[in-house]
Amino acid sequence: MNTSNVNIERKRILITGGAGFLGSHLSERLLGEGHDIICMDNYFTGSKQNIQHLMDNPNFELMRHDVTFPVYLEIDEIYNLACPASPIHYQHDPVQTTKTSVHGAINMLGLAKRTGAKIFQASTSEVYGDPKVHPQQEDYWGHVNPIGFRSCYDEGKRCAETLFFDYHRQHKLRIKVGRIFNTYGPRMHPNDGRVVSNFIVQALTGQNISIYGKGDQTRSFCYCSDLIEAFVRLMNSDDSITGPINIGNPGEFTILELAEKVIAMTNSSSKLEFHELPSDDPTQRRPDITKAKEQLGWEPQVDLEQGLTKTIAYFDQLLKAGEVTARGAA
Ligand code: NAD
Ligand code: UDP
Repeated sequence: MNTSNVNIERKRILITGGAGFLGSHLSERLLGEGHDIICMDNYFTGSKQNIQHLMDNPNFELMRHDVTFPVYLEIDEIYNLACPASPIHYQHDPVQTTKTSVHGAINMLGLAKRTGAKIFQASTSEVYGDPKVHPQQEDYWGHVNPIGFRSCYDEGKRCAETLFFDYHRQHKLRIKVGRIFNTYGPRMHPNDGRVVSNFIVQALTGQNISIYGKGDQTRSFCYCSDLIEAFVRLMNSDDSITGPINIGNPGEFTILELAEKVIAMTNSSSKLEFHELPSDDPTQRRPDITKAKEQLGWEPQVDLEQGLTKTIAYFDQLLKAGEVTARGAA
């Protein structure tokens, strides 16, 4: 370990994608534990606003850098989160999305190899594609279209997992691979097209709620604080625990149920409006979290209503402050 610091407990931690939705919550959490944080981001979907409140902390360092290029730092741990997560953003420049996952993983694994750092990968339930096994367990290999519109993300993340396990086997790297299922909460980009942020902004502004397909597809929604707790537990777990490990909330809802809940909770007069289902949109998704329970002693604490209450309050305040219009971020 590169612990030239006096305080042996204080770790130097690199978070790639640190100015994004999840990265900003993770930065906050790890700073709160007294660690030195290097937050690396190219601001493709993240923003300085997300981490504004951390900037005055002397243990927080911001670095504008694209993870597809190598970087030389001395660190003890890496959380590799850099990658656009919402379908409209990752499909905007699909070649760059694959590069971010694959070249980004190679660069971060190389950095971990040189420094001996422990490294966490933000993988995804998308590695299961449109799953034929339900709920999804980690030993399911998935059902993924290699040449569709979602492939840049799905296959990029799958290749990143391959790299992590090859570096682990070949170079004995200490790896931690978490497969994240749909996560929501404050600091989601209001205009990134994900279902929770879309529905809340639409409901609060009286627009129609955009349902893709019939709305009978299912998702399981995890609140961000629960997810961050799992990240930290996984990173701090015994070196023998490499993952892949599912991290998500096993509560499963149809998209129609989510829409109805959001309308009711916002007292909105919005009506449902049906649109074409995007190609390869998974029909069902729910994590089996047995492994996370057994190996990390973790399970979600925040149910959908509690999480939505906090997220609605966040978007409501953004709208009232004029920082987001009915069509997205101002
Ligand atoms: P986000 O888009 O808010 O955050 C991603 C961050 O990565 C942004 O700050 C973006 O600017 C940055 N980034 C993108 N490309 C980069 C590059 N080439 N170099 C440096 N920075 C770059 O999304 P999020 O929801 O916070 O997701 C974080 C991670 O978690 C992603 O890797 C995503 O794939 C994964 N994940 C998230 C979810 C979810 O539901 N939120 C689900 C599965 C996986
Ligand atoms: N969705 C929807 N309306 C929207 C946005 C998304 O019906 O305005 C649907 C989408 O087709 C998918 C689900 O909600 O079935 C979750 O979409 P999201 O983009 O949030 O995440 P992912 O598809 O990656 O799970």
